[in-house]
Amino acid sequence: MTGELAVVGGGLIGLATARAYLEERPGADVVVFEKEPRLATHQSGNNSGVIHSGLYYRPGSLKAELAVAGAEEMYRFVEEEQIPFDRSGKLVVAVTERELPALEELERRGNANGLIGLRRIGPEEITEIEPTATGIAALHVPDAGVTDYVAVAERLAARLQEQDVVIRRGSPLTAIRETSDHVEVVVGGETHRFRNLVNCAGLHSDRIAALGGIRPEVRIVPFRGEYFTLTGPLAERVRASIYPVPDPRYPFLGVHFTRAVDGSVHVGPNAVLALGREQYRGRPPSLRDLWEMARFGGFWRLAAANVPAGAREMASRWRRLYARQARRLVPGVRAGHLARGRAGIRAQAVDRYGKLVDDFVIERSGRSVHVLNAPSPGATASLAIGRHIAKVIAGGTR
Ligand SMILES: Cc1cc2nc3c(=O)[nH]c(=O)nc-3n(C[C@H](O)[C@H](O)[C@H](O)COP(=O)(O)OP(=O)(O)OC[C@H]3O[C@@H](n4cnc5c(N)ncnc54)[C@H](O)[C@@H]3O)c2cc1C
Repeated sequence: MTGELAVVGGGLIGLATARAYLEERPGADVVVFEKEPRLATHQSGNNSGVIHSGLYYRPGSLKAELAVAGAEEMYRFVEEEQIPFDRSGKLVVAVTERELPALEELERRGNANGLIGLRRIGPEEITEIEPTATGIAALHVPDAGVTDYVAVAERLAARLQEQDVVIRRGSPLTAIRETSDHVEVVVGGETHRFRNLVNCAGLHSDRIAALGGIRPEVRIVPFRGEYFTLTGPLAERVRASIYPVPDPRYPFLGVHFTRAVDGSVHVGPNAVLALGREQYRGRPPSLRDLWEMARFGGFWRLAAANVPAGAREMASRWRRLYARQARRLVPGVRAGHLARGRAGIRAQAVDRYGKLVDDFVIERSGRSVHVLNAPSPGATASLAIGRHIAKVIAGGTR
């Protein structure tokens, strides 16, 4: 097979990249290779389903730019495609005085990022908006919402196939060889030739980059996020999304409550080091992944600097302790109200100093573009990230 563009990874970002590329070059030969039998099997299908609004991200960062543009585009896409969504808004709630400076910083960032309708509210208004929540102050973000990202991925794929894009499921890429005028890829023992390649392989993106001959500055460290489903009387009363004030030292947003588009309320996710890039519940640790982590200096620096936070998150795996964390925002939650749900594994890039990389990282090398860090709000921003990558391929930006 020969073609113009090979996309590795059938998650939201790979599919959005194929879409953006075709918008710029209608009729181009594009092939998406996905190793799993289904699209959106990993991060894109196991997340909170939230359309973020751009509150958290450092003004001027790629994340801020692409989250704000991507959220609007995502709302347009789901509306046009009649995919369920709800612009239900969210509260970010401070429960102690110590959290107020961080809440102020979020307000500043939100305003700098151009959020519309962002408002600081007090305890009474908190309970007017979310009768189950309590706190001393909160930010109300009316533009946040929820959707079904698996449906988004499936619809993107259907629209691509209408434009003759080949989507090869069950097709893991295992080798890359790049020359001055093409990129050869080996998939399922067959060699194919393309003019360009985009690596959107999520949890495996650093490995795909290494196959392409580059030594990425960052490595993927997998952090599992476990969800519970809220049951009992409170499940009827949580209206939309209730978030804590995140710890500014970490890119994770903290255990939150979200009413999904199917009406269920999920609580989570925590952030626990996974013993394998795809170590979902019931799966054994991966010796290969653990060995690679052990050989990466950045991992040990990260571990050494985060022992208390790591231990706290590990402890949150017990339902009673998880309920205690959730009760900070919604005091009525008891362990018996939490039914174990699914889990997602974040592809979090870590640098060699052990720092969790906050911004999106998209790098071009020769004829290939590698997405080396696309954590939350990567689903929200996916359509805008795809556009950005299409420009990088054309050489317009880095
Ligand atoms: C727990 C959790 C909660 C989150 N919550 C939100 C949220 O509420 N809102 C939001 O905006 N974002 C959220 N995110 C982030 C968001 O889900 C991701 O940023 C986004 O899905 C990344 O998309 P992707 O296409 O890069 O990755 P993925 O969806 O992981 O796709 C990568 C694909 O590459 C494939 N692949 C890997 N190796 C190969 C290979 N060798 N050959 C072929 N294919 C390969 C994989 O099978 C996979 O399908 C969350 C993430 C997690 C994990």
